[in-house]
Amino acid sequence: MEATTFVLFGATGDLAKRKIYPALYNLFVDQKLPQSFSVIGLGRRELSDKTFQANVEQSLLMFSRREAKDPVLMNNFLRAFRYSVLDVSRKEDYQKLLHLIEQQEEEQRTVPNRMFYLSVGPEFFETITANILESGLGSANGWKRLVIEKPFGHDLQSARDLNENLSKAFKEDEIFRVDHYLGKPMVQKLEVLQQNNPVLQALWNNRYIANVQITANEIVGVEERAGYYDHVGAIRDMFQNHMLQLLMMLTIHLPNNSTSENIRFKKKQVMESLEKLQKEDVKSHVIRGQYGPGTIEGKTVVGYLSEPNIAATSRNDTFIAAKLQIDNYFWRGVPFYIRTGKRMKDKSTRIVIEFKEPLKQSGANHDNKTPNLLVFEISPHEGISLQLNTRDHLNKGELKPMHIDFRESRDHVPEAYENLISHALHGDSAFFAHWDEVELSWQWVQPILDAYEENQVPLHLYAAGTYGPAESDDLLAQDGYHWWFDD
Ligand code: NAD
Repeated sequence: MEATTFVLFGATGDLAKRKIYPALYNLFVDQKLPQSFSVIGLGRRELSDKTFQANVEQSLLMFSRREAKDPVLMNNFLRAFRYSVLDVSRKEDYQKLLHLIEQQEEEQRTVPNRMFYLSVGPEFFETITANILESGLGSANGWKRLVIEKPFGHDLQSARDLNENLSKAFKEDEIFRVDHYLGKPMVQKLEVLQQNNPVLQALWNNRYIANVQITANEIVGVEERAGYYDHVGAIRDMFQNHMLQLLMMLTIHLPNNSTSENIRFKKKQVMESLEKLQKEDVKSHVIRGQYGPGTIEGKTVVGYLSEPNIAATSRNDTFIAAKLQIDNYFWRGVPFYIRTGKRMKDKSTRIVIEFKEPLKQSGANHDNKTPNLLVFEISPHEGISLQLNTRDHLNKGELKPMHIDFRESRDHVPEAYENLISHALHGDSAFFAHWDEVELSWQWVQPILDAYEENQVPLHLYAAGTYGPAESDDLLAQDGYHWWFDD
């Protein structure tokens, strides 16, 4: 792989410590980093290289999936780390950075490839990219890439404005927008599974599939993120990005040997085929919820309005369930139910595909028959299971469901950030959000934001430790379905 300088804005932040350093370390152990690789950490605080390296080591001890105890390995890893003070709006700091990078590139006699990772709040994106352009940091002879974290905008217009500004300094194929759900191993397997298994390929359409359920349940509440979360809610924090990305990854039909361009093109087509909601339709397709007090895992927890730093009058959403339809050849008529919420009964991200029941439709009497289900468990455990019907010899030969379960061992599963950083270093953008996807997602979500804003959609209270408001069950019940695995 080509020599690279990894320039990390926000090197003293939480994301860097919990995710980025451990990911880099695990890639290093797996020999997946370029031979010549250096990291320049940036932050406002004055730090020596030595202290910075000690801080990185500390975060590995706390957060790396592999034990980081081998001193030789650790030394070799940390040698690549330097630190430079940078305040995003101080132009002279960028000149200092440029000087440091050029010096390193000269010493290492490497082609100057530069990856700028922005692990800072989105309010800084525009200032940083403008300064990268102006300072000459972006005019290396090698490649330059920009990695940014969500949120990409607050609504359709702000996302467009942000993108317009970023594009002044970086071209679309140089921008890698992280949606960490796309880094999760099971999500990355979805297209491989579908493409390489005729059994799945044959069934992947409205002839066989009755409905699809995509769930991302969290046990945690708002935690320490009140200031951020109270302005975004479940719809912006989870639905507009992660949940719609899961929908896209599941529903694309790809030709063999697809490139990242194919994947992103197909995802864009799915978003274009998504039936649009008018503001007036929102309340019949979207359930909005907020958690009240309740009990989770035996512990009593407060409701959202009693959380620290949340106003007692907040109407922010902590839960959303929605029914979506894709109007294309493969999926016309198949409802997709998507939900995500905080303070749910359990933590799970999964996709359930419920198959049609031809025998039931023919009127045959099969009381005990359950539909075939194909389940992709995405987190916290990774696995795939298939529910079939078999005969129960101990019970008068009645039908009974049988489960074929596969569970991936945790030890072998790389973290999402490992996958994503490795892809970005290779310039492979298949698992990053293209601007078209981001824009189309905001476009689809905008009428919901407007309807929420105008209070056209009731805010249902649900007890913490449940699966959300009862109205979310009604959304499926009116079509004759129910959420699977709510028990
Ligand atoms: P954080 O507040 O812990 O860290 C922010 C970093 O920005 C710090 O290193 C800080 O020094 C730096 N910074 C702030 N003002 C600066 C300035 N004027 N000049 C230079 N540096 C400055 O935040 P975080 O949790 O690390 O998140 C970083 C970004 O990643 C945010 O946009 C967040 O929304 C996004 N994100 C975080 C997570 C997560 O798990 N923490 C997950 C997804 C997305």
